[in-house]
Amino acid sequence: MTGRTTPPPVEPDPHSGRERRAVRLRRAAKLTSVVLPVCLIGWLSWQAVANSTRDVTSHPAVSPHYAEGDRVDADGPSGAASPEGSPSAGAPSPSASAAGTANLPLAGRTVLLDPGHNTGNAKHTADINRKVDIGNSRKECDTTGTSTNVGYSEAEYTLDVVHRARQILQDRGATVVLTQDGDRPWGPCIDERARIGNEAKADAAVSIHADGAPASGSGFHVIMPAKVVAGPADTSAIVDPSHRLGVLLRDTFKAGTGEPTSTYIGQQGLDTRSDLGGLNLSKVPKVFIECGNMRNTGDAGRMSDPEWRQRAAQAVADALTSYLTG
Ligand code: ZN
Repeated sequence: MTGRTTPPPVEPDPHSGRERRAVRLRRAAKLTSVVLPVCLIGWLSWQAVANSTRDVTSHPAVSPHYAEGDRVDADGPSGAASPEGSPSAGAPSPSASAAGTANLPLAGRTVLLDPGHNTGNAKHTADINRKVDIGNSRKECDTTGTSTNVGYSEAEYTLDVVHRARQILQDRGATVVLTQDGDRPWGPCIDERARIGNEAKADAAVSIHADGAPASGSGFHVIMPAKVVAGPADTSAIVDPSHRLGVLLRDTFKAGTGEPTSTYIGQQGLDTRSDLGGLNLSKVPKVFIECGNMRNTGDAGRMSDPEWRQRAAQAVADALTSYLTG
């Protein structure tokens, strides 16, 4: 509505001088009494998680080499996407900034979260089918992703989990950059998704997905970058740190969500791929997680549950925290 409006009347301030300062001091004291205990509880929780994760990861159960299995992600042959788009950077929350860095284990660190796909991709097939260079081949810019049998889309799922994880990471002091935040009609393309993390100089990146495999398969798996040196791709520097992040995420996600590792792909919940643009083009440590199989009834039920998604997000945030502070 564009009609002219009358400005609201300005109320006289009943406080002046010393009275106003006294009010501000009382408000500040009240805020501090709330913020400090919350920060303390958050720190103690994080410590507990970090310690337990260190215990787990100090005895890696999986060898660093994994055979590549079938490629069943509905991200498809084009691979799971990587991010880009108008990057949505999130600064640490005001309470975190005010408290200083002592209780913020991720202060000064930047994390890239990549919600796979985009709910608008299905309406922009020409745009997302355009081929982009991923170093060792050319692949579709992005794909539509999968969905549960009742129509809960992978793109909705990934953005929801990313929002939840972003909040946890920001509360720990991290700057969180998103590749898309539901703020663009389609995409970004997989090469742009990688570029956003590179340009943000992210300390670590996680791309969130859900799989669209045959209904009989269930469980989650983490995908790590293979060594690819071709054209614009050179993952030499990120293979090892990404592997460390991947193992941490596998262990933390399994413990935090109760979701078993995949029955149909990878080994013990880990897979390594050379055909994903989001990994090939990344210059920062990065992994994908396929949180479950949306075509499997059990997995779909869990992923459709907001409480389970919160646990999934917590696991992602905890794994990143352990990685960045370990
Ligand atoms: Zn996907």
